[in-house]
Amino acid sequence: MIKKVGVLLLVIFALQACKKVPVTGRSQINLIGDDSINKMAEQQYNMVLDQSRTVNNTSNGEMVERVGERISNAVDRYAKANGFYEDIADYNWEFNLIDENVANAWCMPGGKVAFYTGILPFTESEEGMAVVMGHEVAHAIARHGAERLSQQLLAQGLSVGAAIASAGTNVQTQNTINQAFGIGSTLGILAFSRKHESEADKMGLIFMAMAGYDPREAVEFWKRMSESGGQAPPEFLSTHPSHETRIKDLEENLPEALKYYKPRTGISN
Ligand SMILES: [Zn+2]
Repeated sequence: MIKKVGVLLLVIFALQACKKVPVTGRSQINLIGDDSINKMAEQQYNMVLDQSRTVNNTSNGEMVERVGERISNAVDRYAKANGFYEDIADYNWEFNLIDENVANAWCMPGGKVAFYTGILPFTESEEGMAVVMGHEVAHAIARHGAERLSQQLLAQGLSVGAAIASAGTNVQTQNTINQAFGIGSTLGILAFSRKHESEADKMGLIFMAMAGYDPREAVEFWKRMSESGGQAPPEFLSTHPSHETRIKDLEENLPEALKYYKPRTGISN
């Protein structure tokens, strides 16, 4: 049975999976339509918010929103200029700061962003926050969550339809979804692959630069993370790529990103 489902999924995969990642042009597996995945993401996002204390009306919370708006606007401009705006036009962006001492942040499919207060000592400034925002938003624009969920459903022999149908009620399905999206604070976060991390870094640099944030800050942010002594969850612990490799790759991608950089006016940090 599992084998049959697997074969069926592979057939579906062959029919509808040929998507290209913006910016890098890599082909990826994606079995799940945006409508379904964005709905699942919204459900999980609201669940996380229900269980968390948000502090959006603090100056840091306002900064998360401001940086998020600037970066998502930059993404819109980039998408329009590069012919994939239709793919992201239905994103319903939301930015929340959660009061929890964990050095993490994430963006779910459809543009649902959460920052944890524990990452603020590492971001240090609005520029540093833009590094993280650019990176997380890039994971969503590159549809890494959908790609990982597709891979996990294939591996578990689960059908997309069954997963969608049980997303609201089945704890195991919810765990699979949360893992694929890389959300949560510490427990059970699955690190993105090195390929996904590199893509998010490269795209994030361009998005932050277009939003008026100096992309050179990315190198400084990752240096601070590398000095943190491994307290962060996998998304920022960065065993793959190692901090050294990541910083080297970021430096290599900086000249391209700097072409998009125009310092923003009215800097408030
Ligand atoms: Zn990442």
